[in-house]
Amino acid sequence: MSSFPARAVIDLAAIRANVRSLASHAPTAQVLAVVKADAYGHGLLPVAQAAVDAGATWLGVAQLGEALELRAHGVTTRLLTWLYAPGAPLGQAVAADVDLSVAAPWALDEVVAAARAVGRPARVHLKVDTGLGRNGLTPAQLPDVLDAALRAEAEGAVQVVGLWSHLAFADEPDHPAVRAQAVVFAEALALVEGRGARLEVRHLANSAATLTSPELHYDLVRPGIAVYGLSPVPQLGGPADFGLTPAMTLEAELVTVKEVPAGQGVSYAHAYVTPGTTTLGVVPLGYADGVPRHASGAADRPGGPLLVGGRRLSVAGRVCMDQVVVDLGPGAPDRAGDRVELFGTGAAGGPTAQDWADVAETISYEIVTRVGGRVPRVHV
Ligand code: PLP
Repeated sequence: MSSFPARAVIDLAAIRANVRSLASHAPTAQVLAVVKADAYGHGLLPVAQAAVDAGATWLGVAQLGEALELRAHGVTTRLLTWLYAPGAPLGQAVAADVDLSVAAPWALDEVVAAARAVGRPARVHLKVDTGLGRNGLTPAQLPDVLDAALRAEAEGAVQVVGLWSHLAFADEPDHPAVRAQAVVFAEALALVEGRGARLEVRHLANSAATLTSPELHYDLVRPGIAVYGLSPVPQLGGPADFGLTPAMTLEAELVTVKEVPAGQGVSYAHAYVTPGTTTLGVVPLGYADGVPRHASGAADRPGGPLLVGGRRLSVAGRVCMDQVVVDLGPGAPDRAGDRVELFGTGAAGGPTAQDWADVAETISYEIVTRVGGRVPRVHV
């Protein structure tokens, strides 16, 4: 057992079940499990393997390094990577049989040069910015880049296998911007196929669109957050409503439990002061471990939720770098070494990553991806 007094327990059976559930939501599409950012903090390699075991036929990562890490560990599943800067070692990606996104004119030039140097064609997915206003070819840039890509294809340097885009409002399925992006995507598709590209996959849907917008599934869906069992549309439903189970449980042991009198200021700046005689517990996780400092607690604002001895409590006072304090209440039965759950499946009244996101005024994605590197991941 690690000497670190806390851990993120990752339920790989939940990952597998979530992938199967996503596949059943998109029965006509393949599933690309997005495992970027260390599988949203859940551990790249075990999660990738679990997703593949459950039927994901593609994996996706933002960073080239993560793609190469998957390949170095023997993962042979189709793999797409999409975020690289000029001068990136694209030849390594081509040699490792990694599909590359082309989101700017310079990127096609570099992919073609890399493929020629390696001596095998690069598989590319042209990314079109249909309205997110982020990475991707503008519709105005697309025709020239497409023509250049098809010329390179004729010379054997690339294979144009995909056209793809990403949605700005997928979590609001009725938002007019979703429809507007779908229209731009359909136009781009008509152009690309009209000029003779033989696409293997057209893809647009993240988790939210996978779960709520079947008309956007095309050939491949790209869920991320839902693979980890968290709802991409919390205002529409929780994980269970979509057949998902949160995979990560963040837990620790109490390191100190002590009686204090009324009026005891707690943690930096005494943002919380004990209202009466009580018991304080110290939990060895802090903002260095991803506990949001914005989830600090004060008398008029409960902090992030915690489950201790079956009771749902909250962070008292400021979240510190390595620790938080919890007011266990007068005469509390808890002892140093007792288990504290910060978030998990939500069973038995326990808090969820979404609950922390609500307190910290952020999204569940940020809660799980920010669990710090020093927190051991235990895969079960
Ligand atoms: N596709 C792309 C290009 C992404 O950047 C992401 C993540 O942000 C996803 C798919 C998965 O999104 P989500 O986690 O909302 O399913």
